[in-house]
Amino acid sequence: MMKINFNQLDRGYKRFKSEYDHAAISTLESGWYIMGNNGIKFEEQFASFIGSKYCVGLNSGLDALVLAFRALEMGEGDEVIVPANTYIASVLAITENGATPILVEPDEFYNLDADKIEEAITDKTKAILVVHLYGQAANMAKIKVIADKHNLYIIEDCAQSHGAKFRDKTTGVWGDIGCFSFYPTKNLGAFGDSGAIVTDNEEIYEKIKMLRNYGSKVKYHNEILGVNSRLDEIQAALLCVKLSHYDELRQERAEIANRYLNGINNTRITLPTIRDNAEHVWHLFVIKTDNREVFQSYLSEKGIITQVHYPIPPHLSEAYRYLGYKAGDYPITEDYADTVVSLPLYEGMTDEEIEYVIETINRYED
Ligand SMILES: *Cc1c(COP(=O)(O)O)cnc(C)c1O
Repeated sequence: MMKINFNQLDRGYKRFKSEYDHAAISTLESGWYIMGNNGIKFEEQFASFIGSKYCVGLNSGLDALVLAFRALEMGEGDEVIVPANTYIASVLAITENGATPILVEPDEFYNLDADKIEEAITDKTKAILVVHLYGQAANMAKIKVIADKHNLYIIEDCAQSHGAKFRDKTTGVWGDIGCFSFYPTKNLGAFGDSGAIVTDNEEIYEKIKMLRNYGSKVKYHNEILGVNSRLDEIQAALLCVKLSHYDELRQERAEIANRYLNGINNTRITLPTIRDNAEHVWHLFVIKTDNREVFQSYLSEKGIITQVHYPIPPHLSEAYRYLGYKAGDYPITEDYADTVVSLPLYEGMTDEEIEYVIETINRYED
């Protein structure tokens, strides 16, 4: 029997092993490990890849989000619109700054439903945090119109959407600040934790550069209260290697997704759909099915490992009990949480493995 893990990160490493090894070892030999030339080079290359003026390398995707709100001086008394259907990090970035998350239901593409934003806006609303979930852009044209009309900032959580586009513009440059994670399983994954923000605004850029390094531009001259969230030189060097191959990797994910879309024809499975004008980068291939546990254990008996993104929406998490939400408050989000399943989709998946997943799913009968 075949054994197909949900992810197989070693294959991504082995594919460009000599380049990764060279990048890591030459950094070790250089004697310079934090805030050096690799970091600057990666920031320049990533900004150019996204199409933004500036990039600041950071320690994680969560830090990118937290520092984005801090740079915009959002805090107590401010409300931020955020999708109810997201990973908890998006919401944590708001509460970490003392601001209040206002949750809005998703559309059929699992992203913030633009038609439900306006009814959630009050005179305390300061920003919309858009999450481009699973690798597909939210409807940025509509969201931008609403933000402009109500004078709100847009922050984009692009942790799952490196290079994804809406119309001809990449996610991350539609709003004021784009926040990225390079956690190893993300499309542009490092070999440890790291993240970044992108922006076209020089003031925001300078502020986040200070915030990540103890609030200082010049060593020991601390102008504002900062944190330590620096991107290290080894991760930066490895990220430059991966970024140089990103088009090929993106193509490979798209091919696997297309084979799933064309090959899976079991009526018990609802396949993902693609928004008009959106270019999906397939961070996750998420299907829906009614008897999820039965489906997952059937696949697992056949050697195929699946995951759920995400089984408990933030409003029902133990951590956010104090916000006072209850089951039934966000029925669409809760339905997704009960029925979604992510299929294996990773760099280096073989033809045989892809076919085996398709055939096994097509033979499933509850
Ligand atoms: C991964 C992820 C984050 C957090 O990134 P880390 O680098 O793990 O801190 C934030 N938002 C979303 C949507 C994510 O998928």
